Amino acid sequence: MSHPPVVLVVGSLHHDIMVEADHLPRADETAVGSRWYPKFGGKGGNQAVAAQAAGARGRMFGAVGRDGFGAFMLEALDRGGVDRRFVAELDGVGSGMSVAIQDAAGTYAATIVSGANLLVDAGALEAAALWQDVKVLVLQNEVPAGVNLAAARAARERGVRVVLNAAPAREVARELRALVDVLVVNAVEAEMFGAGEVGDLASALAAARHLAAQYDSVVVTAGAEGLAAWTLDDVQITLPARKVRVSSTHGAGDCFTGTLAAALAMGQGLEEACAQASEAAALHVAGGQAG
Ligand code: ADP
Repeated sequence: MSHPPVVLVVGSLHHDIMVEADHLPRADETAVGSRWYPKFGGKGGNQAVAAQAAGARGRMFGAVGRDGFGAFMLEALDRGGVDRRFVAELDGVGSGMSVAIQDAAGTYAATIVSGANLLVDAGALEAAALWQDVKVLVLQNEVPAGVNLAAARAARERGVRVVLNAAPAREVARELRALVDVLVVNAVEAEMFGAGEVGDLASALAAARHLAAQYDSVVVTAGAEGLAAWTLDDVQITLPARKVRVSSTHGAGDCFTGTLAAALAMGQGLEEACAQASEAAALHVAGGQAG
């Protein structure tokens, strides 16, 4: 039996600490929380796990510190079945982490420390074994721009498609833009890239069309509304999201992007891949329970 294709994710790994409290602390205040729990995160890590869950083989390229948080993340990648031979364990730097506090009304504040994610070694992208069976490369904006560019170049040289989830939004160099096959952005990022306000599928489609002047294919996700996409050859897609009872929308976009990449790697067209990703993200939002 042939092995499924590989989705290579070059990107971030974070150990998130989620805190629940009555209210968010003000300056100089120590607020009392009710509960905390650790969560595996980083857009890269989440996407690699989602790609693996969607039937491709997920392979992660990134870095953690040689500390307890790093060990937690390596274990989470193992649990998700992700190949993590290319995740470096670095001495002298802390793992990437975040603290997120949510109050009783659901208002949220977070601080993120990138740590080891900023020291990802672009030179290691040349390892031949890293690219074995890779069909799709996934990038986000939580590692240095130079790493993304080097990864996209290496992918192109090997005939690997490149998906850029431009989150969080930051300027994308013209050279990287030219190497990207599919751009995935949410409403906030689309607006930050000058594609106008996104509130429904019509405005998401307009935003995708706007951004398609710079990328081959663009997918704009619009939360509970669904998604829209526009391609270089003017194919237009709008797809409402499945209605589900929301458990948590945290990581919906990562689940979407990882699944989309897996579906593309397995040979689906953009429309089919979007549909599969949208279903997976809806299930994720519903906390794993079909709506
Ligand atoms: P992000 O998590 O990056 O902010 P979105 O909120 O746009 O991204 O969500 C990404 C995708 O996840 C959406 O296009 C949709 O397919 C799915 N999704 C998000 N929120 C919901 C929801 N409340 N109900 C159903 N699907 C959702």
